[in-house]
Amino acid sequence: MADVVTETKSMTCIICPMGCTMEVTTEDDGVQKKVVKIVDNNCPRGPEYVKKELLNPTRTLTTTIEVTGGKQVLVPVKTKGEVPKAQLMNCMQVIRRACVAAPVKHGDILIHDILGSGVNVIACADVEKL
Ligand code: SF4
Repeated sequence: MADVVTETKSMTCIICPMGCTMEVTTEDDGVQKKVVKIVDNNCPRGPEYVKKELLNPTRTLTTTIEVTGGKQVLVPVKTKGEVPKAQLMNCMQVIRRACVAAPVKHGDILIHDILGSGVNVIACADVEKL
C-alpha cells in the first residue's frame, strides 16, 4: 500500500474581489487526491473553488478562427462553457485547424462538442461577406 502524502499550501480564491487566501490541506494516496481541510475562507464559495481547481480544473477558452470570404480574416471565438484544463492544448489544435466561411454571426456555433467535451465553440462577433 502506497504512503499517503499530506500537503498544505496557500491558495487565493478568485471568485470575488475579497481574494481570500486559504490554507488548504490535501492527502494523496497515489490513486486519489482529496482535499481534507480548508481554513480562512470567508464564505462557502472558497472551498468550492479550491476543490474544483485542485481536483477538476476547467477553463473557458478564448481565441480566433480563420474566416474565408469575409471582411475580416479572423473571428474571435470562445467555448460556451468550460473545458477541462488538461484538454486546452488539444482544443487549441482543433480550433487552429478550423476555418469558416463568411458570413458569421455573433453566437453562431462554429465547432460542435469540441473533443467530445459537450461544449460548443461560438463566434463572439459578426463577420460580413466581402
Ligand atoms: S472565499 Fe468567498 S469571500 Fe473569499 S474570495 Fe472566495 S468568494 Fe470571495
